[in-house]
Amino acid sequence: MADILDSVSSVNLGEIHQTLYQCIYKRRPFQPRLTPTSPWNFPHPIVAHAVEGPEAVKRGLPAPGDHTSHLPKVSPPQQGTSRSARANQGSDPLIKDPLPCLRPSLRILNTLVNFLNCGEGKSINPFSQDRYPHVKRGDYTSLDADHLNFFRGLLGEGRVLTKPEDCEAYNVDWIKNVRGYSRCVLKPKTTEEVSGILAFCNERRIAVCPQGGNTGLVGGSVPVFDEVVLSTALMNEIISTNDTSGVLVCQAGCILESLDSHLANHGLMMPLDLGAKGSCHIGGNVSTNAGGLRLLRYGNLQGSVLGLEAVKANGEILDCLSTLKKDNTGYHLKHLFIGSEGTLGIVTKVAIQCPPKPKAVNLAFLGERKYIILTFTSNCVDSFETVLKIVRKAKRELSEILSSCEMMDELTMDVVVSHLKLKSPLPQHPFYMIIETHGSNENHDEEKMNTFLQNIMDEKLVLNGTATSEVSKMKNIWDIRERITEALDRDGYVFKYDISLPIQNFYSLVPAMQERLGTSAKRICGYGHLGDGNLHLNIIVGEFTQDILNKIEPFVYQFTSQLKGSISAEHGIGFRKPKYMHYSKSETSIRLMKELKVLMDPRGILNPYKVLPENK
Ligand SMILES: Cc1cc2nc3c(=O)[nH]c(=O)nc-3n(C[C@H](O)[C@H](O)[C@H](O)COP(=O)(O)OP(=O)(O)OC[C@H]3O[C@@H](n4cnc5c(N)ncnc54)[C@H](O)[C@@H]3O)c2cc1C
Repeated sequence: MADILDSVSSVNLGEIHQTLYQCIYKRRPFQPRLTPTSPWNFPHPIVAHAVEGPEAVKRGLPAPGDHTSHLPKVSPPQQGTSRSARANQGSDPLIKDPLPCLRPSLRILNTLVNFLNCGEGKSINPFSQDRYPHVKRGDYTSLDADHLNFFRGLLGEGRVLTKPEDCEAYNVDWIKNVRGYSRCVLKPKTTEEVSGILAFCNERRIAVCPQGGNTGLVGGSVPVFDEVVLSTALMNEIISTNDTSGVLVCQAGCILESLDSHLANHGLMMPLDLGAKGSCHIGGNVSTNAGGLRLLRYGNLQGSVLGLEAVKANGEILDCLSTLKKDNTGYHLKHLFIGSEGTLGIVTKVAIQCPPKPKAVNLAFLGERKYIILTFTSNCVDSFETVLKIVRKAKRELSEILSSCEMMDELTMDVVVSHLKLKSPLPQHPFYMIIETHGSNENHDEEKMNTFLQNIMDEKLVLNGTATSEVSKMKNIWDIRERITEALDRDGYVFKYDISLPIQNFYSLVPAMQERLGTSAKRICGYGHLGDGNLHLNIIVGEFTQDILNKIEPFVYQFTSQLKGSISAEHGIGFRKPKYMHYSKSETSIRLMKELKVLMDPRGILNPYKVLPENK
């Protein structure tokens, strides 16, 4: 009790106000100062070790509940001896939180720090536990020095990151929607090391967040609280490439683009391609069952992954690394790991069927006529038929060589042009389409593409267009499409939705959302994989507010569900969507998923708080 009173008096509110005033009016970065004797200065032991050094002080990146990480080094208490220290670790059932009355004020303080630091141009996002306060930390063991020593013994000093500045990038997702405060990132190189880590964590009930390239868009790849991050970044060995069968075997941490470059020397290519190819890992792709720009032609990973190796939560290695095209011996266990987003095991190796690299590639970029959308509530159909006609024609006339059919609306093009300074090949149009062919005979493919373009022009289905087979021009067009996510990110806070809809309703959600939100959003735009019926709806606002989120969700999911769509076409469920899963999956399916989770990971250490909805 004396400790508590001590600490309350040590938070000098007058001083905080004065410092805030200086920050607001004099634009100085804010660093709250608390007296080093307060229990807040005895954070998690790892944090206390980690704040050593001037760099940590300079950065001023506090962990939630750790309002001291800006301070010069404070000696941590003897591990396991102080009650308040154990309470801060969340391991003492008797003392959950020594200062519950101070938590709200400190949370507000953290928000202010974020706000002020953003003003200084250093965007620091709120922690997920603050932005999503309904999600509570599970009863997992907090790391202590012994745990770290084990990891260092297993991996070596250099592959165990604990400094806040080293861990920060692993705590924030690509679109900066979610942020954890892990102070331990592990970088195994081999399957055996992954196995050693998981066996150890499972026994002690330490939560683990698997991470590949951290390009996921649903908050699945970063910790929610202090989960240990297991990064596959150093598991990047290509094991074999068979020129005849086209089968590539590699470790899970290989970067998609590097694999594609490697395969080009063998006359092959990866069966998937996406805007994040320069960063995402094949293990991350498999774990999210990523779709991408050419799923229309090459199918999804459930088809092209022939086999994989995974490590179960208890450390057991599961060898399903078949390279056979046909293998119907019992259940196809690989499917447990394709798309399960790191909740059932960690993928360590992948065998994947790769198609031949096309000898002829053609690309058309089309400017569409204005059309009125068939909305969910009205019966008016006008020229959306036009777009559908183009898709239908492309599928039939280009048939076996059609490799991609993408679309974007005017506001999407605008965001790319204004933020990335990329040049649109066409003047302004309400809608744009990209149609690509992959084939083996240049003359034949070009002739097919030209005939198709002539036909849609003759039928007045398009207003304008450009076609090319020049590599640099095709790259410029793909750049526009592939960098949309990056441009949107620069436009403001983005609410992202990745929806599958029956093709006749493909765009209907965009005007419905525009009507619903009116001027409360800065921009509401849509683009996506039209050929697969996969729309990316993006709502951009100046700042995240719960109010606007409440206007969007669950409406967006109800709308999708009523049209018999899917609330996640390709990005997965991650941290942001579990409670909405029932809009796309039956109760029975969700129950079976939960049973599988218990079977595969009975202690729930793998990527907690993700994918599965909480039990009510
Ligand atoms: C610019 C941009 C464009 C994108 N375009 C597309 C697109 O067209 N189509 C598409 O589907 N997605 C797209 N994405 C989303 C993202 O790139 C994919 O989801 C990708 O597959 C994630 O791979 P990653 O290595 O970055 O995985 P991460 O983001 O690190 O992780 C994603 C999920 O997989 C888990 N995970 C990662 N590695 C493993 C492993 N080895 N074992 C078990 N679990 C693991 C993580 O815990 C997390 O839940 C895009 C993202 C960006 C930023």
